[in-house]
Amino acid sequence: MLYVDGEWRGASSGRSFEVVNPANGVTIGDVADANRTDAAQAILAASVAFNGWSRLTAFERSDFLYRAYGLMMERKEALARLMTEEQGKPIKAARNEVQYAADFFLWYAEEAKRVYGDVLPAPRSDQRFLVLRQPVGVVAAITPWNYPVSMITRKVAPALAAGCTIVVKPAEQTPLCAMEVFGILHDAGIPAGVANLVTTANPAPIGEELVENAAVAKVTFTGSTEVGTMLAARAAASMKRVSLELGGHAPFIVFEDASPDYAAKGASLVKFLNTGQACISPNRIYVHKSIVDPFLDVLVERVSRMRAGDGLEEGVSIGPLVDEQALEKVNRQVGDAIDHGATLHIGGQRLTEDGLDAGFFYAPTVLSGVTPEMEIYNQETFGPVAPVITFTDDDEVLSLANNTSYGLAAYVYTHNLSRAMRMFEGLHFGIVGVNDINPTAAAAPFGGMRQSGIGREGGREGIAEYLEVKLGGFSI
Ligand code: ADP
Repeated sequence: MLYVDGEWRGASSGRSFEVVNPANGVTIGDVADANRTDAAQAILAASVAFNGWSRLTAFERSDFLYRAYGLMMERKEALARLMTEEQGKPIKAARNEVQYAADFFLWYAEEAKRVYGDVLPAPRSDQRFLVLRQPVGVVAAITPWNYPVSMITRKVAPALAAGCTIVVKPAEQTPLCAMEVFGILHDAGIPAGVANLVTTANPAPIGEELVENAAVAKVTFTGSTEVGTMLAARAAASMKRVSLELGGHAPFIVFEDASPDYAAKGASLVKFLNTGQACISPNRIYVHKSIVDPFLDVLVERVSRMRAGDGLEEGVSIGPLVDEQALEKVNRQVGDAIDHGATLHIGGQRLTEDGLDAGFFYAPTVLSGVTPEMEIYNQETFGPVAPVITFTDDDEVLSLANNTSYGLAAYVYTHNLSRAMRMFEGLHFGIVGVNDINPTAAAAPFGGMRQSGIGREGGREGIAEYLEVKLGGFSI
């Protein structure tokens, strides 16, 4: 269903599309398939609503976001279960995501009241300078399937807090989660037209409308570097503001002074989170030559205990991949690595036993001896494969880690303070975890450098993305 101007409705074409559980291939829903006209109607609704919403006091807007937070917490379990069915992640991970998603409502309910102006010193005694921060206007948001609830609230909450109105186009794989989020916004009493949802099986025409419609002031996108770059280029034609959260190729560096056990535990937890389908997933695990053996022992032992399956089953920690194409990509990268001399420690094939053939399951996999000639060394995997590479020297590993066009997340394991600081400063990545695998929270700025994107989400920075700065010069 589309949610436009405060009402649920079908697509103007009357068409719909099916949503499938990636763990078992079962159809779990039938959703309105919007076209470009529907998107234009949603933009119009957002545009009409902007005047009223942006003139509310920050306290009033904040109240709506507090209500949305409360409702999401009340519905946490149901939303988590739906997420597991629609996206495949294990229920515990789904609960964590709903909490993370709700945190954005709470954080931005508070930040709504911290949008300050400035009074600046002026060069003339009869002059005064004032700075206002005002909402940019109508926002168009495109979100991915891998974090189907939090990637929506991470955009909607700061946009609404700033006084913007919004049109969201969720990923075609996960529209049901998006509809639940909009059910929450509706029940929180957010006025008609302020937040609109356009579900579709065919994103390209909707994307065109969102980046070309003159009423849209800002485009915010989370997804692949390829699509994000294309959308940003088209948005530039009408000078729309853009925020982009794109792909990553995260290095995970383990120095010789780190505990190989602790680092391997961290690597196993963050690498296989969401079955490797995260833009901050470690993609190149650099381990100092002197500790690579104990590191691999612990990593392989931990991976051997992971169970793949339907995320609603107790004890399952590995969900399915999103689709057949994702399976093929992982399989190709692993095959190519082995062909070029990598050692396979565990995994390395599609899982088909015990009914898993109905879904897109790949065995959690560990490779060592990975080198720059291999595809997996150079490309984002987005799957459950841990490629281990050995190194011997600090400068060497820093330069290897930085040698990518991406710049989202990096991880460093060391107990040496100077080394930790040198790496934190030297890595060209927007997020650096030092002995830490979860450097994300609603209060923290998330985002990438270079081809990983533009702008930040979360934190104090997240709301600034939805504000224009206006200077007033007054002669008195
Ligand atoms: P992924 O490979 O992770 O699915 P995509 O960039 O294809 O990444 O998808 C992220 C989001 O971008 C989804 O909402 C998807 O529907 C949307 N998308 C994909 N292609 C286009 C396009 N041509 N125009 C607009 N949005 C698109």
